[in-house]
Amino acid sequence: MKEIKTKLLVIGAGPGGYICAIRAGQLGIDTVIIEAGKPGGTCLNVGCIPSKALIHAAEEFDKVAHLSGQNALGISTSKPSIDLSKTMEWKDGIVSRLNSGVAGLLKKHGVKTVEGWAKFRDGKTVEVDTPTGPQIIRAEHVVIATGSAPIELPFLPFGGKVISSTQALALQEIPEKLVIVGGGYIGLELGMAYAKLGSDVTVVEAAKSILPQYDKDLIRPIMKRLDALGIKVLTNVKAKGLSTKGNSLLVENGGNTDQKIPADKILVTVGRKPVTQGWGLEEIDLRMDGPFIHINDKCQTSMRGTYAIGDVTGEPMLAHRAMAQGEMVAEIIAGEKRTWDKVCIPAVCFTDPEIVTAGLSPNEAKDLGHDIKTDSFPFQANGRAMSAEREEGFVRIVARADNHLVLGIQAVGVGVSELSAGFALALEMGARLEDIAATIHAHPTQSEALQEAALKTLGHALHI
Ligand code: FAD
Ligand code: NAD
Repeated sequence: MKEIKTKLLVIGAGPGGYICAIRAGQLGIDTVIIEAGKPGGTCLNVGCIPSKALIHAAEEFDKVAHLSGQNALGISTSKPSIDLSKTMEWKDGIVSRLNSGVAGLLKKHGVKTVEGWAKFRDGKTVEVDTPTGPQIIRAEHVVIATGSAPIELPFLPFGGKVISSTQALALQEIPEKLVIVGGGYIGLELGMAYAKLGSDVTVVEAAKSILPQYDKDLIRPIMKRLDALGIKVLTNVKAKGLSTKGNSLLVENGGNTDQKIPADKILVTVGRKPVTQGWGLEEIDLRMDGPFIHINDKCQTSMRGTYAIGDVTGEPMLAHRAMAQGEMVAEIIAGEKRTWDKVCIPAVCFTDPEIVTAGLSPNEAKDLGHDIKTDSFPFQANGRAMSAEREEGFVRIVARADNHLVLGIQAVGVGVSELSAGFALALEMGARLEDIAATIHAHPTQSEALQEAALKTLGHALHI
C-alpha cells in the first residue's frame, strides 16, 4: 500500500478545508488535502454558488415578466419563457469553472490533492480509497473539515418526489406544484426562486414563524413579498409523510384533521447535520458538543494536533465562517499566535428582499444586559432605493446607550447583501454611532441608509 508522510493533512475540500490548505501552502507547510467529491465542497457544488445562480436566473425571468405587464417605467416587452435545462447548464458551467479554480489554487500553492474517502486508522493516520487503490497518509497535524449534509426526515425519505436542496438545484423542469418543508434559509431562497419561475409554491413551517431566528421587523417585508409571489405559507404546521397515493404531502395542522397538499415535488429543507459518520470518528474518540465536534478558540479538538473547522463544528453553518477558521488554523500550525477573536460573523439570507445581520439584534443585546439605543432608517426615504424601485425595507443600528459603541447592524431590502461588508467592518473596527455618522457615504447609494440610521439613532437624521 502506498504511504505518504506530510506535516498537515486536511480532510474535506469545502471552503473551510481548501482555504486552510491554500494558506498552509502559502506559509510553506507540506500539505495534503483529501476530497471524496469535487473541490469546493457543498458551498461551491451544491450550496452557495449554484443556489445564487438559480436565484439570479429567477430574478431575471421575474424582471422580464414584470416588464411584460403594466409597469411604471413605461417599458414593454413580450412575456418571457425559460428552458430550465439550459439554465442548469449555465449554472453547471459556473460551478465547473470554480472547481477548476480551486484545484488550480491548491496546485499553485504546492498542496497535494488526494481523491477519495478518508478514514482514520488512528489519530495521525488516515486511509484513503483512491481511484488507483488504497493509500495511507501519516501527518503531524490533521484538520477535519468534513462539512454537513441535509437532514432527512424519517417519514419523508429522499427519493422520487421527495428531494433535498441538492436535487432542487439540478431540476430539469419547473415543478408545477412545489411543497417545501421548512421555511428557513434554503426553503425560502429556493422557494422564492421557483415561484418566480412559475411553480405554485407552498411552504410548511413547524415553528410559529418562517426564519424563526429573525425578528418580526426583518421578516415583515419577506412575508409581503411571499404573498405577492403567491407563495402559501403554513406556520405551526408539521409534515407527517406522503399520502397513500404518493401525490400529496400530509401535514398535521394544529391538532385538527390531517391536511393533504398536492405536490409534484416535495423539497425538505429542515436543516443540515454535521458529517461525523463513516470516517472513523470512533477510532479517535473526540469530545463532542451534541452532534458537532467540540473545538476551542483555536479550533483545536480534544486530541492534540487535531483541529476541526466549518459546519462539522456547529452553528452558524456558513461558508465564510469555515473559511475564516481554515485560514486561522493554517497560521496556528505555522506557529503564529492566533485565536478566534471575531466580533461578528455576518449572515445574509438571499431571499427577496435580502436580510443582512451583523452582531446583535435589539433583543439579543437586551438579553445580554446591555442598555441600548436603536433606530432604523427606511429605504422609502433613500433616493437610490426609490429610483431603483427598491423602497421596501430599512437599515437598523443597535448601540450601547452609554458610549454609543455599535453592537449590531441589520438590514432588509433588495440588494442589501452588498452592504454586509460595511456592517461587519464597522463592528470589527469598534465603530461608535458618531464614526458612522461622520463617514461620508457616496450619494446616491443604498449605503447612505446606514449613515442615516446612525444619525437617526443619535437623534438628528437629515433625510427624514
Ligand atoms: P463542506 O462545504 O460541506 O465541504 C466538506 C467536504 O468534505 C465535502 O466536499 C465532502 O465531500 C468532503 N468530505 C467529507 N467527509 C470526507 C471524507 N471522509 N473523506 C474525504 N472527503 C470528505 N453558506 C453561506 O455562507 N452563504 C450562502 O449563501 C449559503 N448558501 C447555501 C445554499 C445551500 C443550498 C446549502 C446547502 C448551503 C449553503 N450555505 C451557504 C452553507 C455552506 O455551503 C456551508 O456552510 C459550507 O459549505 C461549509 O463548508 P465546510 O468546509 O465546513 O464543508
Ligand atoms: P434552517 O435551519 O435555516 O431552516 C430549517 C427550518 O425548518 C426551520 O425554520 C425549522 O423550524 C423548520 N423545520 C424543522 N423541522 C421541521 C418539520 N418537521 N416540519 C416543518 N418545518 C420544520 O435550515 P436550512 O434551510 O435547511 O439550511 C441549513 C443551513 O444551511 C442554514 O442553517 C445555514 O447555516 C446554511 N445556509 C445558509 C444560507 C445563506 O447564508 N444565505 C443559505 C442556505 C443555507
